[in-house]
Amino acid sequence: MIATTNPASGTVEKKFEPHTDAQVDLAIAKSVSAFDALKQTTIAQRAGWMNKAADVLESDASEFGRIMTLEMGKPLDQAIGEAKKCALACRYYADNAADIMADETVDTGNSRSFRRILPLGPVLAVMPWNYPFWQVVRFAAPALMAGNVGLLKHASNVPQCALALEALFTRAGFPEGCFQTLLISGSKVERVLRDKRVVAATLTGSEPAGASVASICGDEIKPTLLELGGSDAFIIMPSADLDAAVKVGVDARTKNNGQSCIAAKRFIIHADIYDDVRNRLKTAFEALTIGDPMKDGTDIGPLVNDSAVDELVAQVDTALAQGARRVMGAKAIDKDGSWFQPGIIDNITPDMDVYSQELFGPVAMLFKVDTLDDAIALANDSAFGLGSAIFTQDEDEMEQAFTRIEAGATFVNAMTASDPRLPFGGIKRSGYGRELAREGLLTFCNVKTCVVT
Ligand code: NAP
Repeated sequence: MIATTNPASGTVEKKFEPHTDAQVDLAIAKSVSAFDALKQTTIAQRAGWMNKAADVLESDASEFGRIMTLEMGKPLDQAIGEAKKCALACRYYADNAADIMADETVDTGNSRSFRRILPLGPVLAVMPWNYPFWQVVRFAAPALMAGNVGLLKHASNVPQCALALEALFTRAGFPEGCFQTLLISGSKVERVLRDKRVVAATLTGSEPAGASVASICGDEIKPTLLELGGSDAFIIMPSADLDAAVKVGVDARTKNNGQSCIAAKRFIIHADIYDDVRNRLKTAFEALTIGDPMKDGTDIGPLVNDSAVDELVAQVDTALAQGARRVMGAKAIDKDGSWFQPGIIDNITPDMDVYSQELFGPVAMLFKVDTLDDAIALANDSAFGLGSAIFTQDEDEMEQAFTRIEAGATFVNAMTASDPRLPFGGIKRSGYGRELAREGLLTFCNVKTCVVT
């Protein structure tokens, strides 16, 4: 079902008729014409439209925030902040696409040799609900600036966000058909991927969805980018500023109602400070305000739906049955809507299921280690490799973390965060390819070798 269901109440607010195959075919045909038109435009023209998209994101941030919160439950101030961050990404690519795409001369002894960056065509973006604007814009801004066109298959529970994003780029002035939303379910994605007119795909979401899209595109020989799950390590060493580590750690685990791919999911704490940090984390978790995500002052709203609550409860209960300890919370809240009390578990050992799972909700797993080597070994003992963080004042420990932690990012004395100016992506089962920055624009481009002898 493609519908807006308010996770704070469980009420179905609005249902949407899925697009038929004929409507999808028409949208793909429109995207081909739009690509023909867009590649004739200059980067400066596209930058004008992209800056206008940024203006709209800023001026309408409150309304965009409201529909995000309505559809997926994040606190309204975070949702408004997300719309404004999207504006930053649009401005970054408006300002930098010309430099990124400029011909680059190479001295080869020929009379001229250079690289030229060219767009590929219509790209399908399969996107998740957790950052319903940011995930889409971080694909769309570089893609459109490069001259590609986008087809968005958004998560089925955020149709109003999906339609608002389509309208955003039209309102900004991009030619009709440059960015279109397909209201289709995951089962209809294969048909679009196999269409010859669609030349590439990007997916942010779960491993099964990523594996499915990548294998179909492998069969069709089409490039893909995958941004999948994570179980990021958050290491705290004895030299750390513990007030900062705990404050940032709680934020890193509970922001976006704990449903972030780059959330701090495994707190790896040195034995000398373990009890102190665990007690401080417990106090900070207990102080969080759980409630109506539309209200000021709410730290945590509901999870996205009832199955997310059921899955998290089952993961925690299995861990407890296998010998983990509940430090606090980490249980469902019995009221209408999809509510879950944030919590902490520890005493986790490698034989437990939870040791190798992603907890996609506000549950912190704590681990005690004796040395930095042990901390890094534990951080790396994961199928995932998305982000990571370490709190320490020791320069050598920082250097070791940068080099030895197997992840797409390491942040020191801060939580992992995306920034339009820096590449973003994972390794291992967290996916491949990079979004944002220069890399994000080049992902779906033909880096063409041009030679004149
Ligand atoms: P999901 O079920 O994989 O959904 C993501 C998108 O994929 C939705 O649009 C969904 O459509 C679609 N989809 C699902 N199964 C599909 C299939 N077999 N073929 C094609 N499309 C399919 O993901 P989720 O559970 O909602 O999202 C949470 C996961 O995403 C977590 O693991 C999280 O860590 C990860 N994530 C990663 C990043 C990152 O940047 N690395 C960012 C955010 C989230 P329907 O809604 O219609 O099913």
